[in-house]
Amino acid sequence: MSVPVSQMWTVASYVLRQKLARRKQYPLVLMLEPLFRCNLACAGCGKIQYPAHVLKRQLTPEECFRAVDECGAPVVSIPGGEPLMHPEIDKIVEGLVARKKYIYLCTNALLLKEKIHLFKPTKYLTFSVHLDGQKEHHDFAVCREGGYEIAVDAIREALDRGFRVTTNTTLFDGADPKSVRAFFDDMMELGIEGMMLSPGYSYEKAPDQQHFLGRARTRRLFRAILSNREKNWRFNLSPLFMEFLMGKRHYACTPWGMPTYNIFGWQKPCYLLQDGYADTFDELIRETAWESYGTESGNPHCANCMVHSGYEASAVNDTFGSLNGFVATVKGTLFHRYRDEGALRLLDEPVEHGQQSPLVKIGNAQIGNATETFEETRA
Ligand code: SF4
Repeated sequence: MSVPVSQMWTVASYVLRQKLARRKQYPLVLMLEPLFRCNLACAGCGKIQYPAHVLKRQLTPEECFRAVDECGAPVVSIPGGEPLMHPEIDKIVEGLVARKKYIYLCTNALLLKEKIHLFKPTKYLTFSVHLDGQKEHHDFAVCREGGYEIAVDAIREALDRGFRVTTNTTLFDGADPKSVRAFFDDMMELGIEGMMLSPGYSYEKAPDQQHFLGRARTRRLFRAILSNREKNWRFNLSPLFMEFLMGKRHYACTPWGMPTYNIFGWQKPCYLLQDGYADTFDELIRETAWESYGTESGNPHCANCMVHSGYEASAVNDTFGSLNGFVATVKGTLFHRYRDEGALRLLDEPVEHGQQSPLVKIGNAQIGNATETFEETRA
């Protein structure tokens, strides 16, 4: 199992309570961004392009607690920026543990060894370490030579001290599926609890605009990566969300499922877009024009989006919304290895070397020439 039973029970009972209350728009994971500052400058990131006076600002622990209490989600993800750069991150975590929230502290791990003494191991706290693949891929993706070794070293330290550790990996166009699968083997050998994956979102502010995945290419890439799974791979993702990424299911976006709170307030409508801010969570839910978002809406900013923060809550909602969804989740968790001969052929396709950016120069396999055609579609 990649997630403790107590966490699964907390999430399941919370979702069932929302269903019984017939609440349609409920939060599952709060994305709490206490700051935008970072000690990396990744080419695919849109978060650190703010002017200096914004990057200097941060949420106080009290502001974080107010947002968490207002929202009520059972899980709190703390991305950024780099949360370990926040001078009171230990107080924030302590306050959330006291509230019995399951916390995913997302970090590039550059500061993890230095700051790990600030935290105590508990089932409520997981270090979710950003690793974008094997060494060459990760170092190129984060534009930092040696970043992979530092992160892996910190993971070992955290595991030795008894912390829960997962990885989070963002994949861009040109990702080599064979290498990604080898990366899964490496992470399982390291002993982490589970792996989280998402396709990159095309932030308008990100320096590298060429390598964001369209929907059809996302499905091809994830079909190649996630079919024919090794038995020991553990993912920190809903099985139905993974089937969605592989093109086996369709979901509409539920951006309220993972609302974002940061120094500007409650971000409309989601972690990725900034169409204004609400002062309270209630105002966010009431006043956001939700029908204007998601792939069906025709909003060009949503056309190619399949990211975790928009669609994983949709998959979880499906699990608890129908018997079919529940059975499919159990099968996907316990039995399914997704045998697929076509996906094996995708893995054997030749690597194309072209005019790629440094982000994808090494070990680059384009899987765009596979025999099966996938429509680039909003469906
Ligand atoms: S489709 Fe993506 S960008 Fe659009 S609202 Fe959903 S999560 Fe946000």
